[in-house]
Amino acid sequence: MLKKRTTTNKKPLSPAQIRAAEARYLMNTYRRPTVVFTRGRGCRLYDSGGREYLDFLGGIAVNALGHAHPRLVRVIRREAGRAIHVSNLFHNPYQAPLARKLAEWSGLDRVFFTNSGTEAMDGALKLARAYANAKPQNGGNAKKTRILALENSFHGRTIGALSITYPLKYREPFAPLMPGVEFVRLNDVADLEAKFDDTVCALVVETIQGEGGIFPVSEAFWQHARALATQHDAALIADEIQCGLGRAGRYFAYQKFGAKAKPDIVTVAKPLAGGLPLGAIIANEQFASAFVPGMHGTTFGGGPLICATAMEFLTVVDEANLLANIRERSAELRSGLEKLSKRFDFIRDVRGEGLILGVDLAIEGAPIVSQALRNGLVMNCTHEHILRLLPPFIIRGKDVAEFLAKFEKTLKQRLKVGAATRTKAATSAQPMVLAASR
Ligand code: PLP
Repeated sequence: MLKKRTTTNKKPLSPAQIRAAEARYLMNTYRRPTVVFTRGRGCRLYDSGGREYLDFLGGIAVNALGHAHPRLVRVIRREAGRAIHVSNLFHNPYQAPLARKLAEWSGLDRVFFTNSGTEAMDGALKLARAYANAKPQNGGNAKKTRILALENSFHGRTIGALSITYPLKYREPFAPLMPGVEFVRLNDVADLEAKFDDTVCALVVETIQGEGGIFPVSEAFWQHARALATQHDAALIADEIQCGLGRAGRYFAYQKFGAKAKPDIVTVAKPLAGGLPLGAIIANEQFASAFVPGMHGTTFGGGPLICATAMEFLTVVDEANLLANIRERSAELRSGLEKLSKRFDFIRDVRGEGLILGVDLAIEGAPIVSQALRNGLVMNCTHEHILRLLPPFIIRGKDVAEFLAKFEKTLKQRLKVGAATRTKAATSAQPMVLAASR
C-alpha cells in the first residue's frame, strides 16, 4: 500500500542562512552581493523581502523576454508534463523546427545543440579542426591546426574556449591549455594579415565583445577576416553567444556586414531558451559536413522541453516585433546616457548596439554597481570600469526612463561619496574609444 503523502513544512532559509550555507558548501568561485532574488516578472526582480529591482542585466544577456514570460511559462509547463528528455539517440519533435528557424535567421545551414556557450565554442573549434583534418592536402593532422582569436576576447571556461579567451587572469591558473592559439589585435587588419596563412584552421571573432567591454568589430576587419578565411580555407567563427539572437537589433550582429560576408560557423547560447540552458553551433553546409555520426555528441543538448521553449522564444521575437523595440529602446537609452555623460565627466564613452551597451568610466565601476543595487537597479561591471547594460528585449520606454532616473541618482550619490579615483585599468592601454564630445 502506498504511504500517505506527507507535506514537508520546512520554512525557507533566511538570506543570512543561505549565505552561510553557500559559504560552507559551494566552491569559492563567485563574489555575490547579499541580496537573494526569489522571483521575477517582466524586467523586474524581487528579493526575499519583496523589494522590487529593475533588471538591466537580464541574467547576463539571458532573460531576453524578462522573467516569467507567460508564453514561455506555458510551453515549459506543457512539455514538463510530456517528455523533458529522451536523449540524442532518438528523434524528438522540436529539434528540427528549431534548427530550421536558426538556419533561416542566420543564413547558414545546419545546427548542433549544446548545453552552454562554452560547449558550443569547443564544438565549433572541433568542427573547424575536423574540416581541416579531413582534407588530404593537409596531410592528416599536423599542418592546419592553428587557431586565431582576438585580444580582449571572452569565449568560455572549458579548456578549448578558455584557450582562445584573452585575459591572462582566466587562463593562467589552468595552464597548459590547448596549443596552437595566437591572438590578433582587435580591428588591426595588418596584424590579422601577418598572422593568417595556410596553417590556420579557424579565426574566432566575437562580433561585439561583451565581457571585453562592448567593443564591436569594425567593418574593415570583418571583411578582411572573411576574405582571408576564404583564401586559406579556414573557418570564420562568429561567437554571438552574448550579442546574437536579436540583441544587436538584428537577428545576428554580423548581418550588418552584408549577406556576402557571413561567417562559416556561428555560436549562440544565452537567450536561446529564455533562461533554460541551451546553446547551438550553426554552420554552413561546407563545414557542417565535417561531422559524421559518432564524432561529436552530448547527453542533454537539445532535449524536447528546452527546444520547444527556444522555439517559443524565437517566435515571440518575430511576432512581437522585438527587433524594432530593441532598436527604439536602444536609441532612447543611448541618448539618455550621452546626456548624462555631458554632466558627469567621469563617463568617458557610451558604446554598443541595440541592447548591449557599455558605459566606460574613468573611475571604478564596482561601487556604482553596488549603489545602483541599493537603488533598486541591477547592472554589471566588466574590466573594472565599464558598466554593462543587457536589459531584456521587452523593455518599454517607461522602463528606460526609470533606468535613467535611477542611474542618474546613483551617479550623483557616487559623486558625493568622494572624489573619483582613477583605476589602474582605466588608465591602462585597453582599446579605448573616447567620447567624441570630450
Ligand atoms: N562567449 C561569449 C561571448 C560569452 O559572453 C560567454 C559567456 O559569458 C561565453 C562564450 C560562454 O558561455 P557560457 O557561460 O554559457 O558557457
